[in-house]
Formats: sequence, C-alpha cells, structure tokens
Amino acid sequence: MSTTNSTFNSYGTTVFELMSRLALEHDSINLGQGFPDDYGPNAVLQKASEYLFDMPNQYPPMLGVPQLRQAIAAHNRRFYGLDIDWKTETMVSSGATEGLAACFLGLLNQGDEVVVIEPLYDCYLPMIERAGGIAKRVSIEPPDWKLNGSALRAAFSDKTKLLLFNSPQNPSSKVYNKEELLLIADLVKEYDAIAICDEVYEHMVYDHRDHCPLMTLPGMRDRSIRIGSAGKTFSLTGWKVGYLTGSEKLLKAVSKAHQFLVFTTPPNLQRAVADGLNGDGTYFESLNIDMRSKRDRLSEGLSKVSGFNPIVCEGTYFLYVDVDNVGFSGTDIKFCEYLTKEVGVTGVPVNAFYNNSLKKKYIRFCFAKQNSVLDEAVEKLSRHFS
Ligand code: PMP
Repeated sequence: MSTTNSTFNSYGTTVFELMSRLALEHDSINLGQGFPDDYGPNAVLQKASEYLFDMPNQYPPMLGVPQLRQAIAAHNRRFYGLDIDWKTETMVSSGATEGLAACFLGLLNQGDEVVVIEPLYDCYLPMIERAGGIAKRVSIEPPDWKLNGSALRAAFSDKTKLLLFNSPQNPSSKVYNKEELLLIADLVKEYDAIAICDEVYEHMVYDHRDHCPLMTLPGMRDRSIRIGSAGKTFSLTGWKVGYLTGSEKLLKAVSKAHQFLVFTTPPNLQRAVADGLNGDGTYFESLNIDMRSKRDRLSEGLSKVSGFNPIVCEGTYFLYVDVDNVGFSGTDIKFCEYLTKEVGVTGVPVNAFYNNSLKKKYIRFCFAKQNSVLDEAVEKLSRHFS
C-alpha cells in the first residue's frame, strides 16, 4: 500500500522553496519569495501583546471573535459599500490559505469543475484536486495579461461549481478591470456557479486603478466569497489570520470544513487584527504609497540594467522583468540559478507558474523589501550586466 497521498505526492517542492534554499546557500538577496522584511504596524503588534495577557488563551468561537467579525463587516462597508451581517456573513480563518481550503472542502464534490486563471498561486491546484475538484485552466500572459473572453467561456461547463478568482493577482500582479469583471460575473451567473475571490492584496492596487470586489457587482452578492488576509494587509505573514465574507448559506457550508480543519485561530491575534481593520484610513493609504514607491524604486533601477525590461505592475508586491534581451541562452530557471550563484540576487522563474512554456523569458521579483535591500540588488545586477 502506498504511504503517500497521490495528489500531494505528484507535486514537487515549490519553486519558491527551491530558489530560497539556493539563495541561502549562496548568501544571495532573496527577492523570490513574497514576504515583507519589516515588522508590521507597531500599533497592531502592541495590541496583540496586550491581548495575550488580558484574557484566557482558550478556544475562541469557531467562526472568530465577535470583535474581528464586526471589524470585517465594517471594513466591507467602509471600502466597498457592502452591507454585511457580521453574525452570519463573516468567518475568521487561519490565514487565507485555510479559508481557501475550507471553501474547496466545504463546497466541492468529486468531479465538480473549478475554473482558474493561470498563472496560479501555488496552493490552488493541489487543494482543488485533493478536495475532489477538477481545475479548468485559462491562461493570461505577460506583458499585457489580456484575458481572452472566449477562452474563459470555453472553460465553463454544466459541471462548473466554482470560479477561483484572484485580483489583484499573484503571481501576475494584474488588477482586473471593470469590463473584465463584468464578463467574469456574467459567466458565473450564467453557469450558476460560485466565485471564490482571493483578495488578499486588496489594498495594494496602484496608480489610477481601484480594487473592485466581484461581490459588489449586480447579482454577485450571494454567489461570492471574499477572502482577505492580515498577512498582506498588515505585513504580518507569520500570523496566519484570514477572513471570509459571504452569504450565510455559503459560509455555513464552508464552516463545516473549517470546524474540522483548524476550528479556531489565536484569539489575541484576531483581536489585534480587528483593531487594525478598524484603524483610521491613513494606515491603508500609507501601506499603498509605501509599496508603490518600492515598486517604482525597483522598476526604475532595473530598467537601467542592460537587458532588463520591467513590465507594468498594477498591484500586489511583485514586479515582472522581461529578460529575453539579456543574452542568456538557457531557460528562465537556469538564469535564476545563475543570478543567485554569480550575481547574488534571487528571483523566481516565471515559467514555473505555467503548464506550457511562455515564448519569452521573465523573472519575478518581490519588492516588499527595505529600500536598502532593493538598492543593493539593483547595484549588484547593474555591476554584473554593465
Ligand atoms: N492567496 C494569495 C494570492 C497569496 O499570495 C497568499 C500569500 N502569499 C495567500 C493566498 C495566503 O495567505 P495567508 O498567508 O493569509 O494564508
């Protein structure tokens, strides 16, 4: 008898882990894996430490502490005008990842189809498959990330149960525009499907763009689940506090899986995140300004490196760079290995995100790092490729 699960066993070690290991081995600046290298907002950290001592650290309610659930509803109202009943339409999860897992396990039956738009965040496919779902992929590609409406329509069928939708999208950095959102919403409604909306980068949308949750579009309120994460919104990826918003009917089904997966999430962290979400608008604005300036810093720096052509980053904290003209004859993976070993800067090879190879070579860099780290990376690359 096999000792391993065939779904998980069929996936190798992720490219992020492989590149991070290599970066460590060669003492290379790691702009591969997506996490910020600062401490997060002081006020939120302070609250978490106070709350640790002012209450029993026992199992909080399964759906989350009321303080956070009320804050999730208020945040929905404040940013998107959504009228949410915190008692029936919110749920706290142990990170967005657990929230996603609970959606798949709680909503999918064997053979149900799930439409996904690649490039995909790495946990999506294994989790969908393990929950019995069949992923139907549609691709968007750099540099313009154009969504092909007929390809998307072709991915839907009578077996479609879910659309897994991620905007702002990691790993692409695309923010879907209103026209695309309307097209997507129409298909979800036509096929009587449910949209699972991974919106963990909701506050990292740049320039003239806005984040518009699919849930706010006509007819989508009760067929969407919106997922956020304190990991991204407060730069506290180690906390693993996520939050779901959805109709009572959908969240009831999802919570059936959640109760057997983790049941709860640390109560002091939940309460501190509630205070963070309730905080004044300046926090969200400054997070956005800070990330945008890091994006510009890295993008401007890299555009001066010979053969490096950064493309537009609309949201998230990832910058794509077209390196086709750099004169390296091997694959993008080989180029990332080369950069790590010979230059001391690590990125992620973009082909790893796709089923089929792209025509051009791209590397993805994370810019959620200290300015000095970004500057040093640019300097090393400039020196090497001058
Ligand atoms: N979805 C996307 C698109 C992400 O980028 C991440 C984090 N990298 C997650 C979900 C997971 O969020 P969490 O850490 O809250 O589980």
